[in-house]
Amino acid sequence: MPKVKNWQLNREMDYPYEGAYPDRQFAFVFNINRCIACQTCTMACKSTWTFSKGQEQMWWANVETKPYGGYPQFWDAKILKLLEEANPGKQNWRKRNGKYRFEGKTIFEAIKRRLLPNSSRVLGYLPEDHEWNSPNIYEDNPQGKLGKVNELDKEGVELPTHKTWFFYLARICNHCSYPACLAACPREAIYKRPEDGIVLIDQEKCRGYRKCVEACPYKKAMYRGNTRITEKCVGCYPRVEGTDPESEGIPMETRCMAACIGQMRMQGLVKMNNDGTWMKDRSNPLYYMVHEAKVALPLYPQFGTSPNGFYIPPRWVPRKYLKQMFGPGVDQAIENYMNPSRELLAVLQLFRRSNRIIFSYEFEKGPKIYEGTIRGKAVNIYNDTVIAYGKDGTELFRTTIEEPIYERSRKYANSI
Ligand code: SF4
Ligand code: SF4
Ligand code: SF4
Repeated sequence: MPKVKNWQLNREMDYPYEGAYPDRQFAFVFNINRCIACQTCTMACKSTWTFSKGQEQMWWANVETKPYGGYPQFWDAKILKLLEEANPGKQNWRKRNGKYRFEGKTIFEAIKRRLLPNSSRVLGYLPEDHEWNSPNIYEDNPQGKLGKVNELDKEGVELPTHKTWFFYLARICNHCSYPACLAACPREAIYKRPEDGIVLIDQEKCRGYRKCVEACPYKKAMYRGNTRITEKCVGCYPRVEGTDPESEGIPMETRCMAACIGQMRMQGLVKMNNDGTWMKDRSNPLYYMVHEAKVALPLYPQFGTSPNGFYIPPRWVPRKYLKQMFGPGVDQAIENYMNPSRELLAVLQLFRRSNRIIFSYEFEKGPKIYEGTIRGKAVNIYNDTVIAYGKDGTELFRTTIEEPIYERSRKYANSI
């Protein structure tokens, strides 16, 4: 089997095909700390792409309450269990020379140790129908006392971690660099676009074998019963291309991103090297948050697909749980988020100020506006400015750390 470089694991890994990378890759950062589970993103996708007959149980974008929620039900616990069974006690990260490396088996490597038909290239499972029935099951159900049913912790809560906790995990297809769906398809119906890395299923070639549904560890390929063909998130490619009539030729963020009420989503395109790593591009806000500020982490990197969705982890959740979900960078990401540099604080203001894709930004220093302490630490806050630019270098908008105050005129004092 060919070897490919997986930077998220800090090692090479087996993948059924040679690595092939787009010029720019569709990627996104979700700030979990800001999601309010309003499901506006979920409905924005549903009302655009999956409102037709046969798509009733198809939620390309979903928001689930962790630790118990999931769509399909228990998708992550199930694949983690399969990996553990295939490689017992060895699914671990090790620190060598100051850098973590995943030394366990990915879903492409663990398959060799299981008795499955020869056609199976990826370790996975096919969810049963009932697992797709309740997209928002266990909403707002917290984790309480370990091992106790219906018993929550009665002690007061404070950071760094809460004893009674839950959080909202917003999910779409990760448009992976090593897609498991693509690797598993015997008809070669799934492809990754060279211009933006969006992963699509050719609806003419697909025959509904559901190998992709079985293989995708995130369960983001979904079978449609009335057409007997599988569908998935299309990355709203007409918007990303700028060919959607609404976009007027300028690349736009996807529907689920643009609709986000919590302003927790940012999507863009990052430049790629020819070994699957990200090309250094400090002025791209996604590159900055993932590689410079180290505040956003991939979802279950140990699966091995090199997902292009990154998350700023929730501050209040026990670290052991978060490390299983986002890898060993969790402590550093939360520390960096809670004590942001001036530049990171400015970049965080870029979220959802515009529906256009931000290709680069500039940061300008401003005057000090606050001096004090937060959580016992001395803090100075400056009214810095961040300027966002589009694909051709045109300024999209500029914004400051301090929000302007608008006073409602007396004429409208009693209206909303
Ligand atoms: S998340 Fe799943 S469906 Fe999407 S590209 Fe990755 S493997 Fe394929
Ligand atoms: S990117 Fe577009 S198609 Fe994909 S989940 Fe979001 S709205 Fe749906
Ligand atoms: S629209 Fe934004 S805030 Fe609302 S559920 Fe979706 S990701 Fe969370």
